[in-house]
Amino acid sequence: MKMKIKKGDKVKILSGKDRGKKGKVIEVLPRQGKLIVENLNLAKKHLRPQKEGEKGKRVEVAIPLPASKVMLICPNCGKPTRIGYKIEGKKKFRICKKCHKEIM
Ligand SMILES: [Zn+2]
Repeated sequence: MKMKIKKGDKVKILSGKDRGKKGKVIEVLPRQGKLIVENLNLAKKHLRPQKEGEKGKRVEVAIPLPASKVMLICPNCGKPTRIGYKIEGKKKFRICKKCHKEIM
């Protein structure tokens, strides 16, 4: 699956319990069409004790979200936007559909 959103992009979450929150994409999983947003969509995970006598731990981990559930926040105009593409010669780059500037 071709992903429009890239690692390092800032996104807004559109649905679920973190709806409306913003965060940075720290991982893109193109095969699953999902991405991981830093500190968002967290779930508690129970870790088994590593050794006998040790207690298990509960940690919070960020669960991958479907890419359709987030929207990019344009670094130029600061608005949540859809992504377009512009081709100039051999170069293809992403543009913001709101301000039409290149998304770096
Ligand atoms: Zn923009």
